[in-house]
Amino acid sequence: MNPQLLTVSYLAAGALFIFSLSGLSNQETARRGNVFGMLGMAIAILATMFSGQVSGFEKLVPAMIIGALIGVVIAKKVEMTSMPELVAILHSFVGAAAVMVGIASYLDPENHFEGAEKTIHDVEVFLGVFIGVITFTGSIIAFGKLRGSISGKPVMIPMRHWLNLIALATCIYFGYEFISAETHQAGLIPLLIMTAIAGMIGIHLIMAIGGADMPVVVSMLNSYSGWAAAATGFMLGNIALIVVGALVGSSGAILSYIMCRAMNRNFVSVILGGFGTSGGSTAASGDEEAGEVTSATPEEVAGLLKDANNVVIVPGYGMAVAQAQTVVSDIVKKLRTKGVNVRFGIHPVAGRLPGHMNVLLAEAKVPYDIVLEMDELNDDFPNTDVSLVIGANDIVNPAAQTDPNSPIAGMPVLEVWKAKSCIVLKRSMASGYAGVDNPLFYKENTDMLFGDAKDSMIEVLKNLD
Ligand code: NDP
Repeated sequence: MNPQLLTVSYLAAGALFIFSLSGLSNQETARRGNVFGMLGMAIAILATMFSGQVSGFEKLVPAMIIGALIGVVIAKKVEMTSMPELVAILHSFVGAAAVMVGIASYLDPENHFEGAEKTIHDVEVFLGVFIGVITFTGSIIAFGKLRGSISGKPVMIPMRHWLNLIALATCIYFGYEFISAETHQAGLIPLLIMTAIAGMIGIHLIMAIGGADMPVVVSMLNSYSGWAAAATGFMLGNIALIVVGALVGSSGAILSYIMCRAMNRNFVSVILGGFGTSGGSTAASGDEEAGEVTSATPEEVAGLLKDANNVVIVPGYGMAVAQAQTVVSDIVKKLRTKGVNVRFGIHPVAGRLPGHMNVLLAEAKVPYDIVLEMDELNDDFPNTDVSLVIGANDIVNPAAQTDPNSPIAGMPVLEVWKAKSCIVLKRSMASGYAGVDNPLFYKENTDMLFGDAKDSMIEVLKNLD
């Protein structure tokens, strides 16, 4: 392929990625955004394969087919609730690829650089490997935490910020040794030592993050994986990789910033790892008297809903687990025909991935105009007759406002307890993802409807006529 055509193909792929991102920012255009992204990636892969810079097709093509098959099988099998784990492990692949390409590019006997060119290439290798290995080990830990195979509790090593700083300084020292080495043999040892230390930094950074703060970590690792890819792009002189890396890196950073604002966390502290984790308790809020838990029957809940003028539904992770969205949508239709004003309140970190609840509600054909963000709705709870909490827990926990020692202290929550009545659907008194007790369940105006959310909603629907 001639170089002009290659550049044009890469530019077309870059433009499609930008259209893709813009499409993904809105539910109505998200499918189109995905199609643009897939098209852009297909063009980028084909252009690279036929660029004349790639050889060894006999190994490359089978590897790509096997990789694609694994991807298709995993994507078809994965439950929506396991998406964050999948995303985390995919980030780790990007990090691992950056490390391997960096080391291979350094050792490649065909790469002869002299003087300033050598220094620039070595810096690119250093950055690609450094960011790549932090992304790799950090994402593996995030995967373990999201899966539940590693405890969600923050691991707080004493003087951890100093340890991180010393590790970073050591990496810079070995980076200097690596760049100033005269031969590949002499440079390889400092490069590998730096890789090992940076890998430890990745583990330490993510181990220090507590359960409720994991959403920010996932988007932050997304951003890191983008920067690792961009550094690899510089190393290989590949425009497509630089563009894609920069898009992923910056959009991930913007998403992290938005999530930090939503969670009331400091962005800089997130980048440094371990924030909002000053050793909070997991007990119920000290300010709250743990009162009686009262439960309601589906008939009683149906009666409350029929008599209400204003209802706010707050869905959470449990709605996704129960796959209750369709029956919830049917309930909403029925209530609206009876003249009840029903709206949904969506917390930015509800469920297990950004936009999780919006996707489920869109799938169940809930009209977009009654699905509101937390900020648009929080002031309306005092004028709400019934707040219906479906499988949500952390995002409606008043301890975030009342208990400064809580691991979720300071996180904005949906103030469902301010409605006249609050109904919480869940199976038990178990805590949510952050492992924190919820004083909401003991409030006087709260009734629990115990059971699987879908089964409970089916019973409520039957009693709405
Ligand atoms: P939570 O995890 O706090 O609570 C979900 C509740 O659903 C549980 O307490 C559980 O209680 C209940 N539940 C589970 N299965 C069912 C079922 N079949 N029927 C009825 N109830 C069920 O979820 P939230 O959405 O309130 O909060 C999200 C949490 O996840 C936050 O802490 C957030 O930080 C974190 N997170 C969010 C991510 C994101 O990007 N959105 C990513 C990673 C983490 P029980 O077992 O008693 O039924």
